[in-house]
Amino acid sequence: MSRIIIESSKHDGKIELPEQLIFGRTFTDHVFEMDYDPDKGWHKPTIKKKSNLDLDPAAMALHYGQAIFEGMKAYNYTDGKIALFRPEKNFERLNNSNRRLCIPEIDIDLVMEALFELIKIDKEWIPTKEGHSLYIRPFVFANEPSLGVRPANQYKFIILLNPVGPYYPQGFKPVPIMVTDEYVRAVRKGVGDCKCAGNYAASLIAQREAQKEGYGQVLWLDAIEQKYLEEVGVMNIFVSLKNEIATPMLTGSILPGITRMSVIQILKDWGYNMNERMISIDEIVDAYDQGNLFEMFGTGTAAVISSISKLKYKDKIMEFNEKEAGELGTKLYNEITGIQWGKIKDKYGWIKFVE
Ligand SMILES: *Cc1c(COP(=O)(O)O)cnc(C)c1O
Repeated sequence: MSRIIIESSKHDGKIELPEQLIFGRTFTDHVFEMDYDPDKGWHKPTIKKKSNLDLDPAAMALHYGQAIFEGMKAYNYTDGKIALFRPEKNFERLNNSNRRLCIPEIDIDLVMEALFELIKIDKEWIPTKEGHSLYIRPFVFANEPSLGVRPANQYKFIILLNPVGPYYPQGFKPVPIMVTDEYVRAVRKGVGDCKCAGNYAASLIAQREAQKEGYGQVLWLDAIEQKYLEEVGVMNIFVSLKNEIATPMLTGSILPGITRMSVIQILKDWGYNMNERMISIDEIVDAYDQGNLFEMFGTGTAAVISSISKLKYKDKIMEFNEKEAGELGTKLYNEITGIQWGKIKDKYGWIKFVE
């Protein structure tokens, strides 16, 4: 017997997806919701029609930011199977964010079951076209009405489903990145390694300024010395150097990406000298000047791999390839999307089918 309460599983009329699916705009017609209070714990795990929330203006998340989220994708194979990529890692990370923000942890088995049920109910919403997928947004926020600064006593957990088009509608193209030493994203021992809402609010201004100068995203340096590479936008970063592939080690201010984790494993298996370590921006500039910096790319669920065309740091512009993504980034992109779409054998057991 399923523990999930199904309040609705029907659709109002025929499901029609817009021709152009813009990220984060179209949602399926059901959500999963669950509430927390100290007496009942997490309770009433329910799949229902998506509707507006009934929220008190004093809901604590709106004032003091106890709000965390996750992001993952489901892939609709043409044979009717629906695949998820390492979803247990997302829920483990969700609980990690919960712990840091004093939010009660969730039961991973229960929400995995709920996610499967929700996806099955809204299956017809998942596009099957090449490169299209279903973006999954689980999130938790404090909805207790109170203005006291303390951990809330009431929370809501929701899973929203968002059908999305391909991240690269014009093909796998590299993007220009600007290093910021004006702003920092997160500091060690803070909340940089959590997917909490406030981190993204803090990062918007640097992104806006980079975009004004024609750069797609920001490369963040560490908050203490503004010296070591941290992340690129909302992605982890990798650099291909002479005899080595390196990515910043997890110091506490960096988000431990699941794509990052997967790329590290694949590169090690391919025989690369793959290292997690501190990488200074000066080392990057020197390696570039000596011709020992071959390519840089970001990793994350939305894009999988995002190759960097050029990198601006102060007055220095380091150019890679404006037109084509780097060779290693392309190879990794093909490998991971191949595993996700069932075109390459999943020897790691990373794929979970919705059943
Ligand atoms: C989500 C996120 C990433 C990428 O994590 P994935 O699990 O690979 O999607 C990297 N950096 C930040 C800041 C993020 O929010």
